[in-house]
Amino acid sequence: MRTATQQLFSKCYGKYAIGAYNVFNAEQVHGIMRGAGNAGLPVLLQITPVARNYMSDKVLRSIIDAASHLYPETDYAIHLDHGNPEHCKDAIQSGGYDSVMIDASHESFMKNIAITSEIVKMAHDNNMAVEAELGVLSGMEDDMTVNDDQARFTQPDQVAEFVEKTRCDSLAIAIGTSHGAYKFKGDQSLRLDILEKIQKMIPQFPFVLHGASAVPYNEIRRINEYGGKLDEDARGVRLFELQAAIASGVCKVNIATDMRLIWARLHREFFKNSPELFDPIIPGKKYMDELEKFVSQKCLSLLAKNIKHETI
Ligand SMILES: [Zn+2]
Repeated sequence: MRTATQQLFSKCYGKYAIGAYNVFNAEQVHGIMRGAGNAGLPVLLQITPVARNYMSDKVLRSIIDAASHLYPETDYAIHLDHGNPEHCKDAIQSGGYDSVMIDASHESFMKNIAITSEIVKMAHDNNMAVEAELGVLSGMEDDMTVNDDQARFTQPDQVAEFVEKTRCDSLAIAIGTSHGAYKFKGDQSLRLDILEKIQKMIPQFPFVLHGASAVPYNEIRRINEYGGKLDEDARGVRLFELQAAIASGVCKVNIATDMRLIWARLHREFFKNSPELFDPIIPGKKYMDELEKFVSQKCLSLLAKNIKHETI
């Protein structure tokens, strides 16, 4: 059932994180809704500006709406991911979203506050929630590219002022993750020390972790075995780190890369192993089934350390 984003957030702080999955097509919507329903946990379906251009915003939202009737047990909300002010205004006015992310993190601190505040006011007037971002993630996602030297961690001493002035409902923080498959080099990992400092500044406030895919080595290896050329050093966020972050207030975890890897691996293997086939329905069905399994397992794994699924 479609549920307000803030209502979904209200139950999870310190216990579990809601998986937020980027959708581009109908197969993903089916797989995600089924998987979350099987896990008995809520889910966010995210639409990026690139997805809006690719599939059309209205078509994507209609697919989600239609699918929700097939999977009434799945609690979900529709979220705009990485919107600029124009995307946010359009999404708010459409009435088809439950929350938006305004991404003004590349602007100065004061300009980020000004842009975010304006969107928050408009969204709250329409009973919608706003995710803002403070700090800049590196990496590549859709049409966004941020180099390592432009990336910066969220400054703990800025968060209280930012949240108080903007009145945003959740905050995406930069603590070491990045977009895309190449998140960490060497021994780099999540900066949980920064997260703990941020949490002390604004306790009980929900944080969002972008770029939180696991990027399993096995997927990379299988893609390369079937003709892919991905860097085998690609590495994502390890589960125990994610679970520590969830215990420190991360309530929403964004997943995009892992679903793309599944898509690439499945189609490469399928067409190589079945060269006589050309019907998109066959691999399409396999993709839905694999996503269902992936999302179900992912939802069940996004628990704070020491929390058991039965207790949430
Ligand atoms: Zn992101």
